[in-house]
Amino acid sequence: MKVVIAGGGIIGLTLAWRLSQQGVSVTVLEAATAGGEASWAGAGMLAPGGEIKCDNEWDRFTLASARLYRDFAAELNEESGVDPEWRLSGAVDLAASEAEWHVQCERAAKQSALGIDSEPLSPAALRDLIPQLGPGGWQARWYPADAIVNPRATVRALLAACRRRGVVVEENTRVLSVRDGLVSTPPRQYRADAVVLACGAWSSLIDAAVPLPPAVPVRGHLIGYQCAPGWLAPILRHQHTYLLQRDSGLLIAGASEEHAGFNRGINPAIGRDIADRAAHLLPALAGQKYETWIGFRPGSEAGHPLLGQAAPGLWLAYGHYRNGILLAPATAARLTRELLSARPDLRPSTSAA
Ligand SMILES: Cc1cc2nc3c(=O)[nH]c(=O)nc-3n(C[C@H](O)[C@H](O)[C@H](O)COP(=O)(O)OP(=O)(O)OC[C@H]3O[C@@H](n4cnc5c(N)ncnc54)[C@H](O)[C@@H]3O)c2cc1C
Repeated sequence: MKVVIAGGGIIGLTLAWRLSQQGVSVTVLEAATAGGEASWAGAGMLAPGGEIKCDNEWDRFTLASARLYRDFAAELNEESGVDPEWRLSGAVDLAASEAEWHVQCERAAKQSALGIDSEPLSPAALRDLIPQLGPGGWQARWYPADAIVNPRATVRALLAACRRRGVVVEENTRVLSVRDGLVSTPPRQYRADAVVLACGAWSSLIDAAVPLPPAVPVRGHLIGYQCAPGWLAPILRHQHTYLLQRDSGLLIAGASEEHAGFNRGINPAIGRDIADRAAHLLPALAGQKYETWIGFRPGSEAGHPLLGQAAPGLWLAYGHYRNGILLAPATAARLTRELLSARPDLRPSTSAA
């Protein structure tokens, strides 16, 4: 009994790891390099404080995933020997006017009902947390539970953990169609008892027996500066601008959102705009050299992730948009549970019984 997962991003690999821990035989087919698309590009904020605005099923799912992360990262580190660099950084949300502050306080009140804690920061506490913050008459709110992870390290860890558990990962293998348990790629066909589509923004391009809900590519630019490690401790957010720093010293500023199809061209003007916004918050960055990269967030027309069975033997795991790094643990837990409850025979012990 075998599961084939199309797509070796963070979603496909996390699911492959979790299924393999249950004894399921898994093959991951990846069109290019595992973890080389959105999961390479993502900033790595695990920040319900910045993302959750109201109380719906997906907000609760997001929060549940954030709460899984500490243990998820520790277990992954233990199994793979690679540190995903999960850090409880906390986050500072800035407001530049009374109107912005009012919106922020209203959102914080709704979030608090969900169990997301935050508190206003005094000017002195704000200076202590971010001494390099530029002038601006800021008001600020502190989210102690927001965290960061390094998505590139996480993918490296997942790959190592998957391989140790016998998951076959075939790179440079693009899935073209999935019909009647037959997965077709240019070199060959694979027979599968269950197929999961986890191809991020490309998922609905696959030819399947049922119409697939569209995946919508939403391109994003990020920029990165090399700074002294530990220069910026918390995540810093103001409106559409955010900054965070990885262990290596890489300080990331974002972001943009563009509907540009799969155009891979980097637009230097967008990079400059992000750099200007970053330097407004942290003037020490003005004039510093930075690198620019892009990635394709997997949006969905439904406005939420598409998870679950689409047809007998065909499962969906895409549409995580701007939160796929954060949502990986809960997505894998849910799909593992649903797959094994629909197909208990995927587990070797059950099929032998
Ligand atoms: C600029 C930017 C910033 C972001 N910041 C954050 C953040 O701070 N926090 C957060 O939680 N999320 C963030 N995200 C979102 C997050 O990166 C994505 O939601 C997540 O990486 C999606 O993972 P995935 O595995 O679904 O997709 P991907 O990582 O894109 O993986 C899909 C894989 O499928 C492969 N593939 C495509 N077609 C086929 C095919 N036909 N056959 C086989 N394989 C195929 C691709 O090559 C790719 O490797 C950000 C994204 C961007 C672009």
